Parts: sequence; C-alpha cells; structure tokens
Amino acid sequence: MSDLFTDDYAASADAADPLRRFRAQFHMPRFGDVEQAYFVGNSLGLQPRGARAQVEDVLDKWAMEAVEGHFRGNSQWMTYHGLVGAQLAEIVGAQPEEVVAMNSLTANLHFLMVGFYRPTAERPAILMEAGAFPSDRYALESQVRFHGFDPATDLIEVQPGDDGLFGIDAIAAAVAEHGHRLALVLWPGVQYRTGEAFDLAEITRLGHAAGAIVGFDLAHAAGNLPLRLHDSGADFAVWCHYKYLNSGPGAVAGAFVHARHADTDRPRFAGWWGHDASTRFRMGPDFQPTPGADGWQLSNPPILGLAPLRASLDLFTEAGMPALRAKSEALTGYLATLIRSELDAVLDIATPADPARRGAQLSLRVRGGREQGRNLFEHLAGNGVLGDWREPDVIRISPAPLYNNHADVLRFVRAVQRWRDA
Ligand SMILES: *Cc1c(COP(=O)(O)O)cnc(C)c1O
Repeated sequence: MSDLFTDDYAASADAADPLRRFRAQFHMPRFGDVEQAYFVGNSLGLQPRGARAQVEDVLDKWAMEAVEGHFRGNSQWMTYHGLVGAQLAEIVGAQPEEVVAMNSLTANLHFLMVGFYRPTAERPAILMEAGAFPSDRYALESQVRFHGFDPATDLIEVQPGDDGLFGIDAIAAAVAEHGHRLALVLWPGVQYRTGEAFDLAEITRLGHAAGAIVGFDLAHAAGNLPLRLHDSGADFAVWCHYKYLNSGPGAVAGAFVHARHADTDRPRFAGWWGHDASTRFRMGPDFQPTPGADGWQLSNPPILGLAPLRASLDLFTEAGMPALRAKSEALTGYLATLIRSELDAVLDIATPADPARRGAQLSLRVRGGREQGRNLFEHLAGNGVLGDWREPDVIRISPAPLYNNHADVLRFVRAVQRWRDA
C-alpha cells in the first residue's frame, strides 16, 4: 500500500493547501449527514455562497427601481455585462475587449461562425475531432449544410489513435492532408470524453499556416486550465460558465474574438446590443458595431442569469489561475497515483498521463467492461461519491481545485475498493 493512501497524508496535504479556504465559499451537496464527494464540477460547478446575494441584488433593484435600474448605480443593467469582462479576460488570457458574456455556448458558436466560417467552392471544409460533444457536431454539420455544402465531404472528422487520444501529430497530419480545402479548424481546448488537453497556440499555428480560420470550444478548458487565448492567436472561441466556472445551470456563456478582428467587416447577425454603445439609444436605422467582442451581442443580456457569474468570478480572481492550476495538478495527480497503486486491476485511465496534456478530469474505464462500469458508477453514487457517466463506457471524475480536496479523493478510492471487494 502506498504511503500516500492514508488519512494522515490526505489531511496533511489538505492542511498545507493554500486554497483550502475556498471550499467553505461553496454549497457542498449533502449525502445524508455528510458532504457528498462531488467530482462533477466539469458538468455543473457548485453554487458559490455569494451567488444568492448577487441574484437578490438584481431582484431588489428591479423591485425598487424598475426601469431606472438600467441607468442607476455601479451595477446598472446598461453596462452590467461589462462588470464581468475584465475578470473573464484574465481567466482566459485575453484583453478585456476580446471577451464578452452573452447567450449560450452553442448559440455563440453559431453566431461567431456567421462571421468566421465563410466557405467557398475551393475551401468549403471544417476540421473537427471525431467523437465531439454532440451539440458541436450538430452546429458544425448544420452550418455546412446551411452554406449549401455536403457534410459527407466537407465536415472532416479527425480520428483519434487506438488509445482514443489525438496528440498534436494527428491534428498536424489531418491539416497537412486537408489544409488546402479548410475554411475552419474548430477544436476543443479539452476533449469532454477523454479529458485530453490541447496546445491552442500550436493548433492555431497549424490551421493558419494552411490558410484556415481557427476557433476553439473551451467548454472544458475555461476555468480549468490557465489559457492564453490572445497569445495563442486563435480567431475566436466560445465556452460556457456552468462547468468549471460555477455560474449555475444554463448560465450566460462566453465568447472571444481576437483583437485583430476588433473592427472586422466580416458578416454578422446583428442586434441592437452589438451597436456602438455611445449611439445605441439614438435608435438609428444603420448598424454600427461596437469594436471587439461586444459588437457580437444581439440582445440586452439576462441580468438575473449574469448575476451568479459575478460571485464566481470574484473567487477565481482571488484564487488566481496559476494557484488553481498548481492545486489541480496536485489533486488530479494524487487521484491518478492512487488509481495506479490501489486500483490498477479495476480501472484504466483513458486520460493522458502527462499533466501537461490534461486538466482536472480523469476519464476511467472499468476493466470488466461496460456493464461493470455502470455498476461501479451506481455504487459510487449510492455511497456519496458522485462522478458522471458518459456513454459508452466512461466514468468521469473531476476534482475541482476550488472546492475538492485530498480527502474527497480518498473517499473515491475507498468506495471503489469496497465495490471491488464485495
Ligand atoms: C457542455 C458542452 C456543451 C453544451 O452546450 P450548451 O450550448 O451550453 O448547452 C457544448 N459543447 C461542449 C464541448 C460541451 O462540453
């Protein structure tokens, strides 16, 4: 048995954790008399305790000020979406003018593709990963069709290796093969099923060298990995805020448009909230976009939906992505080490072993096959250890560095052992 596999070790590692105070800033779901060991922050992040006050502030303002809430005070609704811009930019490594909180993830993907997917007869194709999150595939396939092209030839899905992983070589080979036909490379920051993380700058370099636009879906990367979106050179990116960014079910999503496109005359689907803020209320007939990401907005934003984001981003700002990443590597490394030392006969780790190629999440396969996997998953949930199940055979366990700790990881390992030994 490993020395690390003891309550003493977990307790001392948690006591030495510089971010340990953040756990108390969240509502931890209960399992009977104890807290759940919650490993599903990659699906729905926990509620920050500060979220309720932010939502109540909006409700109070609405109750007391009604329409004048648009124009009064620091948190006036006219500029409310901008309250989160600077913090968001810091988290994804962008300039404040490059990011905006708006709509939902899939909607942002479509709206940005209006400008950034401009297929021609010579260059009609999109390159994406095989096995992508279904919404992304539906969005890309429908965009190809919308432009009158054929997904069978123009939606190119890169196949992973036998281990289910891509690695940069598979992407480079696909770009080399199809580069002359590519209008767009759309890639995840972290693949949702395997947890494989990608080098955004390198993918951008490959795509641009082939003459394609490069966009990213950062649903599983934002708030998980320290990103440098501006420096990566990516043309655009989208993400959601309800996973690692803890802003609640269906939270308002995020979008990035690189500064080099700030004044682009690419086509876009316009709405009044994207109009230059200084002249928006002249209510003129001609659309003048706000430079930068703000110019891609359509509607006045759902203020109640944005409110929890403020509470969550304050915690990220206070903790800082470098410290979060350091803890994340330690915690996920601890989980991986114990799986190898204590559970090697039971579980196979599908996520890359190299910490540089993964984020918080480990994707696990039960060696006995799918039915055994389902059985273990249900045993865990029945014992207060919550991961999630992704068909056909993956259990995802994602320690979130803001609120998970080494003791949670021990509970996971012991619960798997009890199942194995039963
Ligand atoms: C979570 C997730 C989505 C969800 O899309 P919504 O528009 O927010 O419902 C889409 N794509 C990926 C890759 C995801 O991980």
